Amino acid sequence: MPFDLSSALAQKKADGLYRERRTLASPQGTRVVVDGRRLLNFCSNDYLGLANHADVTAAFVAAAQHYGAGSGASHLVCGHSAEHEALEQELAAFTGRERVLLFSTGWMANTAVIQALCGAGDAVFEDRLNHASLIDGGLASGARFQRYRHNDMAQLAAQLQQSAARQKLIVTDGVFSMDGDVAPLPALARLAAEHDAWLMVDDAHGFGVMGATGGGVAEHFALDAAALPVLVGTLGKSFGSFGAFVAGDAALIEFLINSARAYIYTTALPPAVAAASRASLALLRDGHDLRARLAAHVSRFRAGAASLGLELMPSDTPIQPLLLGSNERALAWSAALQARGFLVGAIRPPTVPAGMARLRITFSAAHETADIDALLLALAECQAGEVA
Ligand SMILES: *Cc1c(COP(=O)(O)O)cnc(C)c1O
Repeated sequence: MPFDLSSALAQKKADGLYRERRTLASPQGTRVVVDGRRLLNFCSNDYLGLANHADVTAAFVAAAQHYGAGSGASHLVCGHSAEHEALEQELAAFTGRERVLLFSTGWMANTAVIQALCGAGDAVFEDRLNHASLIDGGLASGARFQRYRHNDMAQLAAQLQQSAARQKLIVTDGVFSMDGDVAPLPALARLAAEHDAWLMVDDAHGFGVMGATGGGVAEHFALDAAALPVLVGTLGKSFGSFGAFVAGDAALIEFLINSARAYIYTTALPPAVAAASRASLALLRDGHDLRARLAAHVSRFRAGAASLGLELMPSDTPIQPLLLGSNERALAWSAALQARGFLVGAIRPPTVPAGMARLRITFSAAHETADIDALLLALAECQAGEVA
C-alpha cells in the first residue's frame, strides 16, 4: 500500500495525539447533549451565548425563507446578496474602517490575505503561537517567512532591522487562541511604523469580548486603520454565526476583491448566514451586560483556581488554559471531567508546543455562577485524586 495510514494512526494513538469527534444532539450552548449524555460545556468559543440566540435564529430563518438555502455562486459572479452587502457595511461602521470584505471562513480570510499581499521578495513576520491558518498563509505566500518568540518585541525588532525585503508584513493573533493572552499591539504598531511594515491582526477571539462595544483588541487599544491596516475577525466565535471578515481602507478591500484567490474562487456564504450575523452584530455591540457577566465568570474562576493551587496561564480573557504538560495527563483530566459531567477539551501538539498540553477551559456569558463553582469542585476532585 503506497500510503501506510494505519501505522500513522497507530503511532498517533501511541503518542496520545489521536483526535476523535464527539457528536452533539443539541444546539451549541452551556448544556450540550454529547454522544447521548448531557454535559456542562466549557470548551465552546460561543463566548456570548449567541450561537443559539432566538433573535439570531429568527433572522436566519427569515432570510432563508426569502433567499433560500444557497448563494449559488461566488461574490464576483452572482452570489453577492443584499444581506452580504448590508453586513459588510455594518461591520465597517462597527470596526471604524472604510470597508469590510466577507470571507467564507477565518481560515480562508487569513491565508487569502497574506498570499494576496505578500510574495517573493517580501517578508512575513509571525508570532510563534499564531493560529495555524496564519502560519500556513505565511508559508504558502512565497515571501521570506520568519517567526519570533511569543510576544518578543526585541526579537521582532531585530528581525525587522535586518530585513531587506521590499514589503514587510507583521502578523499576530489579537487574543491568542490557545493561551488566552493578548498581543502587545501598541508596541507592534510602533515597530511596524518604525520599520515601514504593515500590521495584520487576526482577532478571532477578541471581537465580542474586548473593547467597550465588543470591537476587540483594535477598540481596546484604540488602533485605527493607519496603525492597524489589516484587521481580521471571524463570525463563528463570539458572533455565534459563521464566516469571517477583513476590515481596512477601501484600497485594501478593492485589492483583495481583485486578488485574493480564496475570495474569488469560492461560493459566497448563504445569505441567511449573513443575516444571522447582522442580528448577532447588534446583540454583540450592545452586549455590555454579557461582557460584564463573562468577566465576572473569569474572575471567579481565576480566584477559585488560584486558591486550589492550579497552574493557570496569564490570561484575563474567557480562554483559561490549565497547563498539564504531557498529552496523557491532559487526556486523563479531560476524561475525568467528562465522567463528572463536564466537557473540556484536551489540547495537544501540534496545536500547542510539545510538553505544553492543556485543558482549554472557556467561559460563556450564558454560564451560571453555579456552573463555575461546579467546575472548580470537579477540578479540585481531579487534583486530589490526580484524576480517575
Ligand atoms: C477559529 C480561528 C480561525 C479560523 O476561523 P474559522 O472561521 O473557524 O475558519 C482563525 N484564527 C483564529 C485565531 C481562530 O481561533
